[in-house]
Amino acid sequence: MIIVVRPGATGTQVKEILDTLERHELTPHVSEGSERLIIGVIGDKSKLEPGSLEVLSGVEKIVPIMESYKLASKQFRPEGTSFNVKDVTIGGKELVMMAGPCAVESEEQVDTVAARVKAVGAKFLRGGAYKPRTSPYAFQGLEKEGLKILRRVADRHGLLVISEITSENDIEYASNYLDVIQIGARNAQNFRLLSAVGKSGIPCMLKRGIAETIDEWLGSAEYILSEGNYRIMMCERGIRTFETATRSTLDISAVPVLKSKTHLPIMVDPSHAAGKASYVEPLALAAIAAGADGLIVEVHPNPKAALSDAQQQLTPEAYTQLANDVRDMAAIVKRSYPNV
Ligand code: PEP
Ligand code: MN
Repeated sequence: MIIVVRPGATGTQVKEILDTLERHELTPHVSEGSERLIIGVIGDKSKLEPGSLEVLSGVEKIVPIMESYKLASKQFRPEGTSFNVKDVTIGGKELVMMAGPCAVESEEQVDTVAARVKAVGAKFLRGGAYKPRTSPYAFQGLEKEGLKILRRVADRHGLLVISEITSENDIEYASNYLDVIQIGARNAQNFRLLSAVGKSGIPCMLKRGIAETIDEWLGSAEYILSEGNYRIMMCERGIRTFETATRSTLDISAVPVLKSKTHLPIMVDPSHAAGKASYVEPLALAAIAAGADGLIVEVHPNPKAALSDAQQQLTPEAYTQLANDVRDMAAIVKRSYPNV
């Protein structure tokens, strides 16, 4: 359930609510909106005597939440969430572009891409250091060295770093090098990893599992939120369907559906959904049209020679075109994109 606090309630009245929850071993999660203070309540509510919260003078109303996710639900923060990663706002009016190679292969490769994507307004450099590959014999990533390369290159170009972590054991080390942890589709229901990322407090991007329903995906987000980490963005990256023409089926409907169900910002990854470079731009523009808060796109200086996902990575030229078209689309949906 959530407790909607009476507008203008005093500190003492709010404390009385929090104390009552604590006495009943319930955990409060406070969300301070521009107009309203809302308290999400997690724990075994059967311990509460009926009416014990309603009588408190600071309480305006109690809203039960039927879904199994609570803190991720729209009711917890009806005005929506935006948050900062350093100086970049996620979920604000300005769309955020994240771009870079599928995998970090060398400093030169990453540097070439970083310069090109930065020049057309990207804020984040992406690049896999720990690659979750289907085959154990495929390129597994440069791991620690990959993270170091990303950090050096990003700092050189004034970009932030997003990279995937596949094990809770790597979070601490990685926290020295990245700004946002990516939780990949294959780990979207790795609940120990989700909880560990929650405890770390590091901003994260939670990709949708390949066969995860939207409610299950929000359950995954809840694992992170319930540990007190509210800086989460969801990322639709395509789901597995009967269709084989694309690598996955980009679920464009997930964008408006999520907007109705959750306050969390929504990114879209058209690259892994498409699996083919020529489909990336139309899917990217459709995602922005549907209301996404930004995109994460794979770009490689020489896609044909890429060590992973060669078919879907854009050339820097194609990415430049995409960024310019995103700017035009942003205006149509009353969002903005940097003029560079
Ligand atoms: C990636 O972004 O590098 C990646 C592996 O994506 P996904 O987890 O969506 O397959
Ligand atoms: Mn990839």
